[in-house]
Amino acid sequence: MKIIKVLQHGGPEQLQYLDAEVPSPGPGQALIKIAAAGVNFIDVYFRTGLYKADLPFTPGNEAAGVIEAVGEGVTDFAPGDRVAYAMFRGSYADYTVVPVTQLVKVPEGLELETAAAAMLQGMTAHYLSHSSFPLKAGDKCLVHAAAGGAGRLLVQMAKMLGATVYGTAGSDEKAEIAKSAGADEVIVYTCEDFVARVKEFTGGKGVDVVYDSVGQSTFLKGLDLIRPRGMMVLFGQSSGPVAPFDPTILNGKGSLFLTRPSLAHHCLTPQELAWRAGDVLGWIASGKLELRIDKTYPLGEAFQAHTDLEGRKTAGKLLLLP
Ligand code: NDP
Repeated sequence: MKIIKVLQHGGPEQLQYLDAEVPSPGPGQALIKIAAAGVNFIDVYFRTGLYKADLPFTPGNEAAGVIEAVGEGVTDFAPGDRVAYAMFRGSYADYTVVPVTQLVKVPEGLELETAAAAMLQGMTAHYLSHSSFPLKAGDKCLVHAAAGGAGRLLVQMAKMLGATVYGTAGSDEKAEIAKSAGADEVIVYTCEDFVARVKEFTGGKGVDVVYDSVGQSTFLKGLDLIRPRGMMVLFGQSSGPVAPFDPTILNGKGSLFLTRPSLAHHCLTPQELAWRAGDVLGWIASGKLELRIDKTYPLGEAFQAHTDLEGRKTAGKLLLLP
């Protein structure tokens, strides 16, 4: 089979397309023939070494496919089952083994490519809007990179919950994509001051919550447009990591709350995984949530997918097809 491996940390050229043996499932695991693997920014962080993984490793934290074999003790899943998962590394390959505790069954009628595209960014948007700062009707939020993979899904879920959504996007074209997801206002933050614009929209009061996946270039400014006792949810760093800062800043800006969450800590039980994945896949199957698959690449062109993602050239989901 073919597999992508990172032998040393570095740029996209470190994504090596190699041959390997098909793995065998151990106890509690399933062997999955991958139909599509999702590309996410987290894969970039593991490749560069910002997030730690022992070398060599196979990147990719999301896929959907069909079970070929199961290991000892597996009773809930069987060969032939269509499954999807997120947050278990090794999906940039023709086959992978995954603990069945990570798996969900893909509803009938939903394509495997769609399921692969939905899991990680969809469950992220779900926990951000339902758990980190549970939105309710009348709340106002700012979503950065609102045309992005996670951003566009978050905009839609925030609208479902009745919030007013302000988005930012890097170009006019991306602003249209964010608007088509339902954002009430979109600011092209590469040429407009998003703090001033959001203050204008809110009559100077600011928003209840900022969902910030961009990090370095937006984080500190974002603290200036949150209402007293509101929340900053910093969930990524597409522009680079946020530098250490003095926590009394949170006091000065209005007794703000700050969280830096991860999907891994929001699918801690089988019930929580079933809730989030069930909502996301169910909403997509029923047409309530719209996915935007921006581009698909052959597995061997993983380097190109990473180059495009880091180069700010994408708006929506990227998939690798074995
Ligand atoms: P996106 O599709 O959002 O792609 C990243 C986007 O960030 C770009 O398209 C760009 O949009 C924006 N961006 C702003 N500044 C830069 C920059 N300097 N370089 C590159 N991009 C920039 O990716 P994902 O949806 O996969 O992930 C978004 C973020 O969310 C990542 O940081 C990721 O790690 C994080 N994340 C966190 C999770 C968690 O649980 N904590 C889970 C999932 C994702 P624009 O041009 O419009 O500014």
